[in-house]
Amino acid sequence: RSLRKHYPIAPDFWGRPTSTVHAMDDVSLTLRAGETLSVVGESGCGKSTLGKTVVRLHEPTSGEILLNGERVDAISGQALKTFRSKVQIIFQDPFSSLNPRHTVGAMLAEPIRNFAIASAKSEIDERIASLLDMVGLPKDAAQRYPHQFSGGQRQRIAIARALAANPQLIVCDEAVSALDVSVKAQIVNLLQDIQRKMGLSLLFISHDLAIVEHLTHRIAVMYLGKVVEEGERRAIFGSPQHPYTRALLSAVPVVAAAEKRQRILLRGDIPSPVKPPSGCRFHTRCPFATERCGSEVPELRPVGSDHRIACHFDLPESAVGSHAAV
Ligand code: SF4
Ligand code: MG
Repeated sequence: RSLRKHYPIAPDFWGRPTSTVHAMDDVSLTLRAGETLSVVGESGCGKSTLGKTVVRLHEPTSGEILLNGERVDAISGQALKTFRSKVQIIFQDPFSSLNPRHTVGAMLAEPIRNFAIASAKSEIDERIASLLDMVGLPKDAAQRYPHQFSGGQRQRIAIARALAANPQLIVCDEAVSALDVSVKAQIVNLLQDIQRKMGLSLLFISHDLAIVEHLTHRIAVMYLGKVVEEGERRAIFGSPQHPYTRALLSAVPVVAAAEKRQRILLRGDIPSPVKPPSGCRFHTRCPFATERCGSEVPELRPVGSDHRIACHFDLPESAVGSHAAV
């Protein structure tokens, strides 16, 4: 709720920050049990910051984080340890997040012991075997080291490790982005499978809209630290309302030739999050911007039953912006 993360950068001689990165500003989102919420946007939009803040790897500058209705943004000690067992994160590069000197078995045993899922050696071994089975790895994987596996298999190991503690929520931060197309599909299917079996919630952070369309229930689109559009998958993909979402979606290749999308190119680059534009942060690139957009911040407002946008205007269904169409 109203999550904000600002980083000070480049401290001066006296250690005083000289400027601030507005990585995430006033983000409020709900992820329901057993549901996938995807957060999409270009790099630097704040989606990774959101994921890391939600799992408490970053402290929020302000705002609240709730899990099962309880505040978790200020907990510590045993409460934080319990939280860590319920909420896990998987990153893009499994190689850098797996200890090269530990066997897969040792890596999986650690959270099992840490979070008191099992303590006797035989129970731990049983749990490791069932985790490996769940992610489609052979039993003898437990005796091997990360470098003995392919990229896709390593991501399976990372998933098994995230599952070891019986979590309720897994944050996937570009978890399949580095994988080959066919492997990507396998890992996405595995995640969906596990989600259904375990009733997990997934916060799926990705810039890959084709994958998101395939696996998500709901979507939040971020631009320069703010959520600009949010809602149910079909609403966003079928009838995107925010000019930025329309531009983003126009770049996704469509399979059916009859369904040709008109590619929308935005002018200019993403402005710096150190000095985000006033009013609507998208106004420097928006084909529909008016004077009001430069001064007044648009709040998220409903445009459908499970669909919200942060824009002052209702744009016609076909509007793509006159200068922008290519
Ligand atoms: Fe564009 Fe204005 Fe809407 Fe922002 S508020 S998206 S600048 S029309
Ligand atoms: Mg990122």
